[in-house]
Amino acid sequence: MTEVLVIGKLEFEVRRSPRRKTLGLTVDRAGELIVHSPETVNSDELHKWVEKKLLWVHQKLLRKEEQNRGSHDLEMVSGETIPYLGQNYRLRIVKDQPAPLYFDGDWFMLRESDRKDAVKHFQHWYRDVGTEWLNERVQFWEPRVGISALKIVVSDLGFRWGSCGQNGVLHFNWKLFQLPVFLVDYVVAHELVHLHENNHTPEFWRILDRVLPDWRKRKENLSHKRPEMIW
Ligand SMILES: [Zn+2]
Repeated sequence: MTEVLVIGKLEFEVRRSPRRKTLGLTVDRAGELIVHSPETVNSDELHKWVEKKLLWVHQKLLRKEEQNRGSHDLEMVSGETIPYLGQNYRLRIVKDQPAPLYFDGDWFMLRESDRKDAVKHFQHWYRDVGTEWLNERVQFWEPRVGISALKIVVSDLGFRWGSCGQNGVLHFNWKLFQLPVFLVDYVVAHELVHLHENNHTPEFWRILDRVLPDWRKRKENLSHKRPEMIW
Protein backbone atom coordinates (compact mmCIF):
# COMPACT_ATOMS: atom_id res chain seq x y z
CA MET A 1 0.00 0.00 0.00
CA THR A 2 1.39 3.35 -0.96
CA GLU A 3 0.90 6.32 1.33
CA VAL A 4 0.70 9.57 -0.57
CA LEU A 5 0.94 13.14 0.61
CA VAL A 6 -0.44 15.79 -1.73
CA ILE A 7 0.59 19.42 -1.35
CA GLY A 8 -0.63 21.76 -4.05
CA LYS A 9 0.33 20.15 -7.34
CA LEU A 10 3.02 17.99 -5.83
CA GLU A 11 2.60 14.39 -4.83
CA PHE A 12 4.95 12.79 -2.31
CA GLU A 13 5.23 9.09 -1.75
CA VAL A 14 5.64 8.41 1.97
CA ARG A 15 7.92 5.52 2.89
CA ARG A 16 7.89 4.61 6.54
CA SER A 17 10.47 2.55 8.29
CA PRO A 18 10.80 1.54 11.95
CA ARG A 19 14.56 1.99 11.64
CA ARG A 20 14.31 5.64 10.68
CA LYS A 21 14.78 8.25 13.38
CA THR A 22 14.42 11.44 11.35
CA LEU A 23 12.46 12.74 8.40
CA GLY A 24 14.08 12.92 4.99
CA LEU A 25 13.09 13.95 1.50
CA THR A 26 14.48 12.84 -1.85
CA VAL A 27 13.84 13.69 -5.46
CA ASP A 28 14.68 10.67 -7.56
CA ARG A 29 15.98 10.53 -11.11
CA ALA A 30 12.53 10.60 -12.66
CA GLY A 31 11.56 13.61 -10.55
CA GLU A 32 9.47 11.57 -8.16
CA LEU A 33 9.25 12.88 -4.63
CA ILE A 34 9.76 10.54 -1.70
CA VAL A 35 9.42 11.32 1.99
CA HIS A 36 11.28 8.95 4.29
CA SER A 37 9.70 8.88 7.70
CA PRO A 38 9.79 7.07 11.04
CA GLU A 39 6.68 4.94 11.68
CA THR A 40 5.30 7.22 14.36
CA VAL A 41 5.09 10.61 12.64
CA ASN A 42 1.46 11.47 11.92
CA SER A 43 0.28 12.95 8.65
CA ASP A 44 -0.21 16.46 10.09
CA GLU A 45 3.38 16.61 11.26
CA LEU A 46 4.54 15.21 7.93
CA HIS A 47 2.54 17.81 6.05
CA LYS A 48 4.03 20.66 8.09
CA TRP A 49 7.56 19.36 7.73
CA VAL A 50 7.27 18.91 3.96
CA GLU A 51 5.77 22.40 3.55
CA LYS A 52 8.95 23.88 4.96
CA LYS A 53 10.93 22.05 2.31
CA LEU A 54 8.88 23.19 -0.66
CA LEU A 55 11.30 25.84 -1.85
CA TRP A 56 14.10 23.28 -1.90
CA VAL A 57 11.85 20.79 -3.74
CA HIS A 58 10.96 23.32 -6.42
CA GLN A 59 14.61 24.23 -6.92
CA LYS A 60 15.51 20.55 -7.27
CA LEU A 61 12.76 19.93 -9.79
CA LEU A 62 13.78 22.96 -11.80
CA ARG A 63 17.37 21.75 -11.93
CA LYS A 64 16.22 18.29 -13.05
CA GLU A 65 14.17 19.84 -15.79
CA GLU A 66 17.15 21.86 -16.99
CA GLN A 67 19.35 18.77 -16.99
CA ASN A 68 16.82 16.89 -19.03
CA ARG A 69 16.17 19.67 -21.47
CA GLY A 70 17.59 19.89 -24.95
CA SER A 71 19.86 17.55 -26.78
CA HIS A 72 22.75 16.73 -24.52
CA ASP A 73 25.82 16.65 -26.68
CA LEU A 74 24.17 16.27 -30.02
CA GLU A 75 26.07 18.07 -32.74
CA MET A 76 23.63 17.34 -35.53
CA VAL A 77 26.16 15.93 -37.93
CA SER A 78 25.75 13.10 -40.43
CA GLY A 79 26.09 9.69 -38.83
CA GLU A 80 24.78 10.61 -35.41
CA THR A 81 22.16 8.29 -33.97
CA ILE A 82 18.64 9.40 -33.13
CA PRO A 83 16.32 7.14 -31.13
CA TYR A 84 12.72 6.51 -32.10
CA LEU A 85 10.59 4.00 -30.19
CA GLY A 86 13.59 2.20 -28.82
CA GLN A 87 15.44 1.88 -32.14
CA ASN A 88 18.43 3.95 -33.21
CA TYR A 89 18.41 5.60 -36.61
CA ARG A 90 21.15 7.52 -38.36
CA LEU A 91 21.06 11.20 -39.11
CA ARG A 92 21.99 12.58 -42.51
CA ILE A 93 22.48 16.26 -43.14
CA VAL A 94 21.22 17.17 -46.62
CA LYS A 95 21.77 20.31 -48.68
CA ASP A 96 18.24 20.73 -49.86
CA GLN A 97 14.83 19.18 -49.33
CA PRO A 98 11.28 20.63 -49.18
CA ALA A 99 10.79 20.17 -45.40
CA PRO A 100 13.33 20.73 -42.60
CA LEU A 101 13.17 17.12 -41.41
CA TYR A 102 12.25 13.81 -43.05
CA PHE A 103 12.28 10.24 -41.87
CA ASP A 104 12.33 7.52 -44.54
CA GLY A 105 12.17 4.52 -42.22
CA ASP A 106 15.96 4.21 -42.09
CA TRP A 107 17.37 7.70 -41.96
CA PHE A 108 16.47 11.01 -40.42
CA MET A 109 17.29 13.69 -42.97
CA LEU A 110 17.81 17.19 -41.70
CA ARG A 111 18.17 20.17 -44.01
CA GLU A 112 21.52 21.84 -43.48
CA SER A 113 20.05 25.32 -43.08
CA ASP A 114 17.83 24.00 -40.24
CA ARG A 115 20.59 22.51 -38.13
CA LYS A 116 20.53 25.37 -35.66
CA ASP A 117 16.86 24.71 -34.83
CA ALA A 118 17.22 20.93 -35.04
CA VAL A 119 15.77 20.25 -31.59
CA LYS A 120 12.62 22.16 -32.47
CA HIS A 121 12.22 20.25 -35.75
CA PHE A 122 12.72 16.92 -34.05
CA GLN A 123 10.27 17.91 -31.35
CA HIS A 124 7.65 18.72 -34.01
CA TRP A 125 8.35 15.54 -35.89
CA TYR A 126 8.05 13.36 -32.78
CA ARG A 127 4.88 15.17 -31.80
CA ASP A 128 3.19 14.90 -35.22
CA VAL A 129 4.11 11.32 -36.00
CA GLY A 130 4.01 10.25 -32.38
CA THR A 131 0.56 11.62 -31.60
CA GLU A 132 -1.02 9.45 -34.27
CA TRP A 133 0.89 6.39 -33.13
CA LEU A 134 0.12 7.10 -29.48
CA ASN A 135 -3.59 7.37 -30.21
CA GLU A 136 -3.47 3.76 -31.33
CA ARG A 137 -1.69 2.69 -28.17
CA VAL A 138 -4.30 4.53 -26.08
CA GLN A 139 -7.06 2.75 -28.01
CA PHE A 140 -5.33 -0.55 -27.37
CA TRP A 141 -5.24 0.04 -23.62
CA GLU A 142 -8.65 1.67 -23.15
CA PRO A 143 -10.73 -1.55 -23.13
CA ARG A 144 -8.17 -3.18 -20.84
CA VAL A 145 -8.35 -0.35 -18.35
CA GLY A 146 -12.10 -0.10 -18.90
CA ILE A 147 -12.18 3.62 -19.54
CA SER A 148 -11.74 6.03 -22.46
CA ALA A 149 -9.75 9.22 -22.77
CA LEU A 150 -11.51 12.19 -24.33
CA LYS A 151 -8.35 13.06 -26.24
CA ILE A 152 -4.60 13.03 -25.94
CA VAL A 153 -2.24 15.97 -26.17
CA VAL A 154 1.48 15.63 -26.80
CA SER A 155 3.66 18.48 -25.59
CA ASP A 156 6.74 19.29 -23.54
CA LEU A 157 6.03 18.27 -19.95
CA GLY A 158 9.54 18.82 -18.65
CA PHE A 159 10.63 15.88 -16.53
CA ARG A 160 7.18 14.29 -16.42
CA TRP A 161 6.22 11.54 -18.86
CA GLY A 162 2.54 12.09 -18.70
CA SER A 163 -0.26 13.63 -16.72
CA CYS A 164 -3.98 13.26 -16.41
CA GLY A 165 -5.73 16.57 -16.97
CA GLN A 166 -9.28 17.74 -16.47
CA ASN A 167 -12.25 16.17 -18.26
CA GLY A 168 -10.53 13.04 -19.51
CA VAL A 169 -7.69 14.71 -21.40
CA LEU A 170 -4.38 12.85 -21.15
CA HIS A 171 -1.08 14.67 -21.65
CA PHE A 172 2.08 12.97 -22.82
CA ASN A 173 5.63 14.21 -23.18
CA TRP A 174 7.04 14.25 -26.74
CA LYS A 175 10.25 12.81 -25.28
CA LEU A 176 8.42 9.52 -24.73
CA PHE A 177 8.90 8.65 -28.38
CA GLN A 178 12.58 7.95 -27.97
CA LEU A 179 11.71 5.09 -25.59
CA PRO A 180 10.89 1.46 -26.40
CA VAL A 181 7.22 0.62 -26.84
CA PHE A 182 6.90 -1.42 -23.63
CA LEU A 183 7.90 1.65 -21.62
CA VAL A 184 5.56 3.97 -23.51
CA ASP A 185 2.84 1.41 -22.82
CA TYR A 186 3.52 1.66 -19.10
CA VAL A 187 3.02 5.44 -19.21
CA VAL A 188 -0.15 5.09 -21.30
CA ALA A 189 -1.66 2.48 -18.98
CA HIS A 190 -0.63 4.50 -15.92
CA GLU A 191 -2.31 7.68 -17.16
CA LEU A 192 -5.45 5.81 -18.24
CA VAL A 193 -5.77 4.35 -14.74
CA HIS A 194 -5.67 7.94 -13.46
CA LEU A 195 -9.01 8.46 -15.22
CA HIS A 196 -10.41 6.03 -12.60
CA GLU A 197 -8.28 7.25 -9.71
CA ASN A 198 -6.83 10.74 -9.62
CA ASN A 199 -4.16 10.01 -7.04
CA HIS A 200 -1.86 7.12 -6.35
CA THR A 201 -4.24 5.51 -3.92
CA PRO A 202 -4.17 1.78 -3.08
CA GLU A 203 -7.08 1.42 -5.51
CA PHE A 204 -4.95 3.01 -8.25
CA TRP A 205 -2.17 0.43 -7.86
CA ARG A 206 -4.72 -2.38 -7.57
CA ILE A 207 -6.20 -1.47 -10.98
CA LEU A 208 -2.72 -1.11 -12.51
CA ASP A 209 -1.79 -4.54 -11.08
CA ARG A 210 -4.73 -6.05 -12.90
CA VAL A 211 -4.13 -4.21 -16.19
CA LEU A 212 -0.35 -4.48 -16.32
CA PRO A 213 0.93 -7.08 -13.83
CA ASP A 214 4.61 -6.33 -14.56
CA TRP A 215 4.32 -2.54 -14.19
CA ARG A 216 6.93 -2.43 -11.42
CA LYS A 217 9.58 -3.79 -13.74
CA ARG A 218 8.67 -1.27 -16.41
CA LYS A 219 8.58 1.63 -13.96
CA GLU A 220 12.01 0.67 -12.63
CA ASN A 221 13.36 0.38 -16.15
CA LEU A 222 11.93 3.79 -17.04
CA SER A 223 13.62 5.48 -14.11
CA HIS A 224 17.01 4.20 -15.28
CA LYS A 225 16.57 5.44 -18.81
CA ARG A 226 17.13 9.13 -18.14
CA PRO A 227 20.91 9.27 -18.24
CA GLU A 228 21.12 7.58 -21.64
CA MET A 229 18.40 9.64 -23.27
CA ILE A 230 19.36 12.30 -25.78
CA TRP A 231 16.31 14.59 -25.51
ZN1 LIG B 1 0.54 8.82 -11.67
